[in-house]
Amino acid sequence: MNCPYCGRQESRVIDSRSVDDGVRRRRKCLACNARFTTYERVQPHDIFVIKKDGRREEFSRDKLLLGIRKACEKRPLPTGAIDKLVDTIEAELYRVGKSEVSSSYIGDLVMEGLKRLDHIAYIRFASVYREFADIGDLKQEVDSLAVRREVTPANQLPLPSSEAVSSLTGRKRR
Ligand SMILES: [Zn+2]
Repeated sequence: MNCPYCGRQESRVIDSRSVDDGVRRRRKCLACNARFTTYERVQPHDIFVIKKDGRREEFSRDKLLLGIRKACEKRPLPTGAIDKLVDTIEAELYRVGKSEVSSSYIGDLVMEGLKRLDHIAYIRFASVYREFADIGDLKQEVDSLAVRREVTPANQLPLPSSEAVSSLTGRKRR
């Protein structure tokens, strides 16, 4: 268990309690004294992800977390929002109870979550995940977000122009 602040391994458990689906441990890093929380839970069963090309790989929470973190890079999200989204998606996968899920199903869950969380992160993730054929498709997606703007949380920044989107995703306008 690496400290999320300094990356060292040694930590001391300062509090441990049972929660609904496992054990919650409060830890203190012995190197930098930062405090953080870990959860230990039972994984009901293994889930395999079927990728677009038909390959099959074990579901990895870390990988999911990494993909979402990348999309949310430098976005002003509340602390814990990303972990919460990953928790929600993971819980949904176990709730569905299938031993195999398609990567596109997981992708859709991520998109759904990011749409509520942060539009920029959503567009970033969508541009990678949906592999928009051209900026026109992406523009359409941005426009459809704009239509739903009335539900935008008050603290969310306005949507970018399509020029900003193309620079954001590194795609050239045609
Ligand atoms: Zn530390």
